Amino acid sequence: LKIDVKKLPWTKAGENGFCDQSKEMNLLKREIVKMLRVPDEALKKIQILKKSIDARKKDDIKYIYAVSVEVSQEEAVLKKLKNPNVVPYAVEPYSFTPCGAKKLAHPPIIVGSGPAGLFCGLQLAQAGFQPIVLERGYDVDKRVKAVEDYWKTGKLDSNCNVQYGEGGAGTFSDGKLNTAIKDPSGKIRKVLQTFVEYGAPEEIAYWNKPHIGTDQLRQVVKNMRNQIHSLGGKVCFNSKMTDIIIENGKVAGVVVNEKEKIPCEVLVLALGHSARDTFQTLLHNKLEITPKAFAIGLRAEHPQDMISRAQYGESYKILPPADYKLTHQAANGRGVYSFCMCPGGFVVNSSSEEQALVVNGMSNYQRDETNANSALIVTVTPEDFTDIKTPNSVLAGVEFQRKWEKLAYELCGGKVPVQLLKDFRENRKSDKIGGITPNIKGEYSFGNLRDCLPEYISQAILEGIEAFDKKIKGYYDEDVVLSGVETRTSSPIRIVRNDHLESNITGIYPCGEGAGYAGGITSAAIDGIKVYEAIANQYCI
Ligand code: FAD
Repeated sequence: LKIDVKKLPWTKAGENGFCDQSKEMNLLKREIVKMLRVPDEALKKIQILKKSIDARKKDDIKYIYAVSVEVSQEEAVLKKLKNPNVVPYAVEPYSFTPCGAKKLAHPPIIVGSGPAGLFCGLQLAQAGFQPIVLERGYDVDKRVKAVEDYWKTGKLDSNCNVQYGEGGAGTFSDGKLNTAIKDPSGKIRKVLQTFVEYGAPEEIAYWNKPHIGTDQLRQVVKNMRNQIHSLGGKVCFNSKMTDIIIENGKVAGVVVNEKEKIPCEVLVLALGHSARDTFQTLLHNKLEITPKAFAIGLRAEHPQDMISRAQYGESYKILPPADYKLTHQAANGRGVYSFCMCPGGFVVNSSSEEQALVVNGMSNYQRDETNANSALIVTVTPEDFTDIKTPNSVLAGVEFQRKWEKLAYELCGGKVPVQLLKDFRENRKSDKIGGITPNIKGEYSFGNLRDCLPEYISQAILEGIEAFDKKIKGYYDEDVVLSGVETRTSSPIRIVRNDHLESNITGIYPCGEGAGYAGGITSAAIDGIKVYEAIANQYCI
């Protein structure tokens, strides 16, 4: 079904692009009976399966819906219609039957309560395994206080920050839930429906670019944790795994906060990409790890209205804030691309180590802040990890990230370095803000970002911004606010795992983004489910 966006029942036209959902359903019903040529009373049930926006013609923007309907006399309706867009449909929900036979003497332990750890933990809890989830940071409420305190005072808690704590790195995020992965097994739907079940807005289950926002996500992760508790599992905060106990090539337990020992035969490592000290612990325990490519760069802020108008024309006033995805091949051979774009959001100081500075992006569900922001990044591979002390080590990528993060920290004494695009181009520090006011969580100050990025990255980004202006008019604006550095785009390592998702140490399951098997909230959650399946295929309770 294609519906002109102007016909939709916008709740606050021109303000935030939200539809009145019950009126939207009524509109759909009217369109469906017309399309199927059936009387109103023949329509028994409607469910939106997919909703997307077709903005190819800016003066004729449409919402495209795929819906499943239940009608009386279905076969007769289909036979009469002969419309290729109307086909029989049956839902194939995610299903999995555990078949493990080895009895576990102790509950499985999951390290990390990000999307990977939480989904793995929830599945294990629902299957009766009563898992123990260990999280070095605090619960969401305490974490919000710690993070806000950091943004206000610059006082970092190195165990609880934007990267660490309940919900993992995604808790302070834009909460985009789209993923590029192919998933014939229905796990994407399973993840989105689970989010809905634990409090997310229903529409994320069918939007082609689902988005939840940090405000909603905070409640969802809390509800998931409570469910794990109610099923007999435990989520323990302020509980950092500081060592692994290995006996005869098998995991035998973990050490928490350097004192308490907890025995286990199954250990899931859902650590995230920033658990640098724990990566060191894994190396020390001889887990097989390889370095991998990731990307670094900076974040750019533009007026959201400019982006939305460029994407949607004048209809932008009634539509949700627009996003973008841009790529460019630079003359120096580097690919530069936009990443983790946050419509109507904030740039956030998302550091997790003392004297090192990292930025990222975050938004609320409404995405109603004035600026759009996006990372502009360039891939780096282990061959680029030069000019550091140990370029050939497994953790060379970490050392490389840290080098630029430390320079970013030093540039403005721990405040987020900010620079206008024109000054970045001229390789000089800015001295005043232009037409775009930075919207940054955490203190900021002027600095020359070219001093904290490799020159080949800065050159590629400059060239990329010029090229992006051809796709989004106004993208190259001298007043565009840049901030940096953006270095935590994905994991700098991969913890090797076999076909049964186990590491070289029996019973240890590397999982999620930090282990190198996911990129983003949804794919990390999916990997959590995959690891649960691998465990439940081997073990029982
Ligand atoms: P994480 O979420 O990183 O979770 C790992 C957890 O393990 C952490 O809570 C950490 O404290 C804990 N941990 C680590 N070591 C130990 C230890 N030794 N003991 C106990 N606990 C430990 N992705 C999207 O898809 N959409 C977005 O819009 C988006 N925006 C983002 C915005 C920001 C500001 C950030 C920082 C990230 C964003 N991401 C986004 C990325 C996304 O958050 C990650 O891809 C995702 O969280 C990875 O999930 P994970 O479970 O693998 O790891």
